Amino acid sequence: MDTKMQAYEFIDKHRDGMLRLWEKMVNVDSGPGCKEGVDQVGRLLADCFAEFGGKNRFYEFKDAGNMLVSEFGNCSEPFIILTGHMDTVFKAGTVSERPFKIEGDKAYGPGVLDMKGGIVILTYALKALKAAGWDTHPVKIILHGDEEVGHTYSSAAEKTLDEAKGAFAAFNFETGFLDNGIVVERKGMYQFQLEVFGKGAHVGNDPENGRSAIREMAYKILDIENLTDWNKGNTFNVGVITGGTVCNATPAYCKILCDMRYNDASYLPDVRQQLQAIADKTYIDGTTTKLTETLAFSPMRRLESTMNLFEFVKATAAEEGFGTLTPKAVGGASDSGYTTAAGVPTCCAMGVQGARNHTVEEFAVVESLFERAKLMIALLAKIKTN
Ligand SMILES: [Zn+2]
Repeated sequence: MDTKMQAYEFIDKHRDGMLRLWEKMVNVDSGPGCKEGVDQVGRLLADCFAEFGGKNRFYEFKDAGNMLVSEFGNCSEPFIILTGHMDTVFKAGTVSERPFKIEGDKAYGPGVLDMKGGIVILTYALKALKAAGWDTHPVKIILHGDEEVGHTYSSAAEKTLDEAKGAFAAFNFETGFLDNGIVVERKGMYQFQLEVFGKGAHVGNDPENGRSAIREMAYKILDIENLTDWNKGNTFNVGVITGGTVCNATPAYCKILCDMRYNDASYLPDVRQQLQAIADKTYIDGTTTKLTETLAFSPMRRLESTMNLFEFVKATAAEEGFGTLTPKAVGGASDSGYTTAAGVPTCCAMGVQGARNHTVEEFAVVESLFERAKLMIALLAKIKTN
């Protein structure tokens, strides 16, 4: 039997083990502020990788989940990256409210789709190939602990750019789409907040002394949204507004949370300047404004080399009977922005398939866990460096 078929058989024999690893990971709270949980998942996976030859390293961060790198073989030669993230968007306590469960053909639980299922896939695809004696290319697994918060409190983004150097292909096991789309392009994301500080006053007794933070912000909201440029693909959204206390007082404070999506990182310096100009401009005398950047993600550019890699993925999937894959461009950001920024052809959304990620209705199609592991086996067994 050839390597690929042996590895397929390994997957068939280890369905229970795959489900157990999935359950174990989902049942650890790993959301924002749960560094402990994320690090626990990291240790669990490091032990798992060590069992079949992984040499582990951690980048440790004080205020963010640690980043795990596991190398198989000599990564000073052209290597393959398998990557993903261990954190979720769900707060501590979510696991006790709705732990991992399988109902019918679907699995549920915090991060079941985004993207702990994907981590099971990359783990078992490689484990199965190693059990079958596959040793054709070195592999580097890179798992982040703070993707969902955009690496705001760590240097994981820069570390990834470094770690990716010398790779000839990357597969990111993000949320897989039900329509068999494989992501080859993603928009960048830039999030920021604006705070206006005005002056409170009693609107009956002392109206002329008030400086309305809400009124000042009203002008600024329009200024920000007017920066949207459909031709460039820059879009702005003022998504959350808070301010004021009671209707009979001039509001002394107002805050907005904003999100901008963009295709090309070269637009960002201009955007930053425009936003600062909006913050600095005063419509209501006596108010001041503070602009704070809260999160930034590099766009995943559509590389020509990515399209070649995608064609290989598509052809292999068709040969193996795993359906017709289509290339997809999406607005949601991921760490594929950093592997492509390092020039490495990257196929993203290779993970377990499902929908509704980041919501309580998040689900994953159980069978796709095994199918996508086999797809990855077929790809690794066949891929060449050029
Ligand atoms: Zn994700």
